Amino acid sequence: MKLQSYVGGRWVEGSGEGRAFIDPTTGAELGRVDATGVDGAAALAFARETGGPALAALSFAERGALLKAVADVLVANRDAYGEIARKNSGNTVRDAAIDIDGGIGTLKFYARLAQSLGDAKTIVEPGQDTLARGGNFAARHIWTTRPGAAMQINAFNFPSWGLWEKVATAIVAGVPCVAKPASATAWLSYQMVADVIAAKVLPEGALSIVCGVGKDLVGALTAFDSLAFTGSAATGEMLRSDPAVLAAAPRVNIEADSINATILGPDAAPGTAVFDLAVREVVNALSVKAGQLCTNIRRVLVPAEHAGAFADAVSAKVSSFAVGDPADESVRVGPLVDLEQRDIALKGIEALKQEADVVCGGGIPDGVVGADAKAGAFLAPTLLSCADPAGAKAVHEIEVFGPCATVMPYRSVEDAVALAARGGGSLALSVFSSDGAVAKAATVGVAPFHGRVMVVDDEVGRDHTGHPIVMPMCVHGGPGRAGGGEELGSLRGLRMHMQRTAVQGSPTLLSALADDAAEAAL
Ligand code: NAP
Repeated sequence: MKLQSYVGGRWVEGSGEGRAFIDPTTGAELGRVDATGVDGAAALAFARETGGPALAALSFAERGALLKAVADVLVANRDAYGEIARKNSGNTVRDAAIDIDGGIGTLKFYARLAQSLGDAKTIVEPGQDTLARGGNFAARHIWTTRPGAAMQINAFNFPSWGLWEKVATAIVAGVPCVAKPASATAWLSYQMVADVIAAKVLPEGALSIVCGVGKDLVGALTAFDSLAFTGSAATGEMLRSDPAVLAAAPRVNIEADSINATILGPDAAPGTAVFDLAVREVVNALSVKAGQLCTNIRRVLVPAEHAGAFADAVSAKVSSFAVGDPADESVRVGPLVDLEQRDIALKGIEALKQEADVVCGGGIPDGVVGADAKAGAFLAPTLLSCADPAGAKAVHEIEVFGPCATVMPYRSVEDAVALAARGGGSLALSVFSSDGAVAKAATVGVAPFHGRVMVVDDEVGRDHTGHPIVMPMCVHGGPGRAGGGEELGSLRGLRMHMQRTAVQGSPTLLSALADDAAEAAL
């Protein structure tokens, strides 16, 4: 099997040998992905010239109906996607659901949101500012669709959610998309897009896909296009500083890696509900999707007097988890996405070991269920403990993209906040505390360094959505090292694809503009 690309309104095959994508449980090749000769410039031009006008002609509600139709196609084929996720991403049933249902759920959320905006094609912000004493000259801010295309480059760990969360906001805004999945797991993105194209539920040119690294994916971006990238900080930096990107200045959004933390408040002692809730969350971090979530907990900040008990509680749970073939129902932890990622993770663990002790795991498991531990990309759930986090460096800087986290003792809440900030800007942080003053101080202290903060107390209990889980109504992205980007967040996600313009004129003109627009704060 060789994955094709859908560009210019037709499926084309790369002319090269391409790169293999594998089954990470066995290491066996499943197929090839190749976009040699696929022209990014032509793909963007077709999207702009054919998909753009077709989407721009539709109201928000009609675009919402398109997303609903896309979601329906995906729901109808859901079982096949689970199978691909198992084979190519090493996902257990639960892991696959997070990616596949996360994508479908985000499409449905934006479908409803778009439908709530009705027949409008523009948005007007609430409120009007008077600019002349006589009241005959005023200003309002309006949002209109940018006339470009969206280049959307995704990471390997969310071939469904990463694809659809980006497409959803762009389509609502009326902007056509050229998606580029990561090669290692492009099969699922390819199959989903192929089903949507075959179902003819989108206007021609609204959605294209490049499987493999095509020519000029970012080199042909113009000022009114956008580039949304999710992946490692290193690739993000390279794309952001591409001379063509710097010269054309398209909108750029970078979602990169991040050394996220969780903080247990001083009240989170063994025996309390919040302690148990935090244990549960770190156990999830060391097992769900084999730890390959960008928002995952990597550093666990625990009051010094409870650090040992916390590490023991987590270790006791994850040490009993079966690692192995995700097809086996007893397996909690599948393989990493490929052998290269496993080897990078092993290297990262070695670097962390210079500053931290191994509590459990630490390498390739001795035995795995239903597979060969070395032929597949397996890594044992690994918990480390760093006695001197203030003096350490690597634990705040190296993201081991697998089931790995480090426990760090702290002495005061200020100390914990300062340690969290050592991540240099992160996507998500959680606080487990039922002491209101601690929860508030920690939240305000870490907020400048984080895109999202989740606080769990006795009132919330188990009813939270999970530290790593991105909700479409909340913004996703983080400052600094996390890329400085922002996606989703209900209508806020449309900012990337629309232009805000301050319109100054007579109240009569402003009210005529508002007549056809949806009023909303973005
Ligand atoms: P990556 O190696 O940086 O690759 C990301 C994407 O960039 C892939 O689609 C890759 O394509 C593409 N790419 C690489 N070079 C390119 C070029 N010259 N032109 C155009 N595209 C290019 O990252 P990854 O290994 O897939 O993902 C893992 C990382 O992503 C982790 O560090 C994780 O933390 C981060 N992540 C962040 C978020 C977030 O929302 N912030 C979400 C998920 C993951 P190929 O695969 O074809 O090379």
